[in-house]
Amino acid sequence: MKKIHVEKTTSRGIVAAPVYLYKDIDLTPDQNKIEPEQIEPEKQRFQRSKDKVIEELRELAVENEIFGAHLEIAEDFTLVEGVLGKISERNNAEEAVSKTIGELEAIFSAIDDAYMKERAADICDIGKRYLAKLKGVTLPDLGNIDREVVVVAKDLFPSDTVKLNPEYVRGIITEEGGVTSHVSILANNMRIPILVGVKGIMSELAENKDLYICMDAGAGEIVIDPTEEELNIYQEKKVQYEESVRQIETLREKEPVTKDGKRIRLCVNAGNPEDVKNALPMKIDGVGLFRSELVYMEKDHFPTEEEQFEIYKEAVKLSPEELTIRTLDIGGDKGLPYFKFEEEDNPFLGWRAIRICLEKRDMFKAQIRAILRASAFGNVRIMFPMIVSPEELRQAKEIVEECKKELRQEEKAFDEQIETGMMIETPASVLLAEEFAKEADFFSIGTNDLTQYLLAVDRGNKKIAAMYDFFHPAVLRAVETIIKAGHKEGIMVGMCGEMAGDPKAVPLLLKMGLDEFSVSAANLDYVRKIILEN
Ligand code: PEP
Ligand code: MG
Repeated sequence: MKKIHVEKTTSRGIVAAPVYLYKDIDLTPDQNKIEPEQIEPEKQRFQRSKDKVIEELRELAVENEIFGAHLEIAEDFTLVEGVLGKISERNNAEEAVSKTIGELEAIFSAIDDAYMKERAADICDIGKRYLAKLKGVTLPDLGNIDREVVVVAKDLFPSDTVKLNPEYVRGIITEEGGVTSHVSILANNMRIPILVGVKGIMSELAENKDLYICMDAGAGEIVIDPTEEELNIYQEKKVQYEESVRQIETLREKEPVTKDGKRIRLCVNAGNPEDVKNALPMKIDGVGLFRSELVYMEKDHFPTEEEQFEIYKEAVKLSPEELTIRTLDIGGDKGLPYFKFEEEDNPFLGWRAIRICLEKRDMFKAQIRAILRASAFGNVRIMFPMIVSPEELRQAKEIVEECKKELRQEEKAFDEQIETGMMIETPASVLLAEEFAKEADFFSIGTNDLTQYLLAVDRGNKKIAAMYDFFHPAVLRAVETIIKAGHKEGIMVGMCGEMAGDPKAVPLLLKMGLDEFSVSAANLDYVRKIILEN
């Protein structure tokens, strides 16, 4: 038995389940040159693994269209001939696949077209599949977990996290990441207890992966290979925790009103209609942040206007009041499985969010049109992320106007009064908050990014996780400045960063006059309790 304590946590929940160790397998080719007499047998070895890959993809294609596209690439003449050619040059099959895939990927990535870049990501995926077959290893798939486990990984991509089924994945532990990195946020939305930045957990488990693990996410405690006695303690803790959850749930009938009579708006952060539906029993006012990038992550291609429209329509029909759709916020730590971003030295300061959207106008317009059309079915608000200058806000709003004009001409319904607001999550937008408040219909404070940018502390870097602190005076002063600026112009100021869901922060934010708290589902009941007590 071994206990590990983690300082920072924004999660809660008691878990005891077997470990599911998620390791990226090493597919680097180990032998380069082969002897001339090995060329033919090596070609045959490649052909055999090709047959297996194709058979596997044929089966997968029945369930999911992306594998149909993968199948075509896997069978493609250029790829197959490329590999055979490289084997003739005395490379072993692994090296030949690796080189051919590398060349094809470089060609596709260099083409300045989103569709082609998507294909580059597909090619990499197929390369992995070939190498896994040649090496005789199985590629792990988190979406296939069908028994109760705690997933332990070095790190998880947001696109991995969205695949998890909370019914089976009882907890997540990662070695990398901070409490506001997206794997953490998504787990909180899915109400999966999570602990991140757990140094050394992978090597602790490396030798023996069939272990049991207990975690108290609220206390930041992990017990590896618990004794019988420790397991009993955890069972007891679980019973007590579940009782406290039931207690707090009884407050759902009460409106979130402070002691001095201010009605606070209490909303949920969501990423798909399912999240909205799951939050309804918690008596939410609406959705203060709909992270639309999750819609993009759950697809295997850029979703079309029609596909997005259906999803947003479903979400707005479910949402009791407003549905605040944040326009696509990819980049930083959020990639798309089908789109290869160019390498950047500082992705959080790079090509992300509104910067991508203003450049890729057609893609952005498809999203705006879908949002506008969904607004015919309920109260939808549009929110732009990562804004640093009034010019960007104006450009984004102009695109909204252009889409409105098109929809009028096409006689497609939308809400003419739709509100357009922005996230305040960059230092520039704090300093210009008064100016922005004249042009935006509402503000939502994104403390996850704002904290990292104000303090110059990467939100996902575990080495400096202790410095990532939204109670730093600079962050608190920024929040106060934003609320004052918004109120001066008579607009609503909400917060959708994780700070809004931190029980210690809620009283402070109430004192500063915050109007709306939009929090992960896991934090909703707790925030309501604190509002009622203040
Ligand atoms: C934020 O930055 O606070 C925020 C809510 O957006 P995200 O966490 O998705 O970057
Ligand atoms: Mg953000």
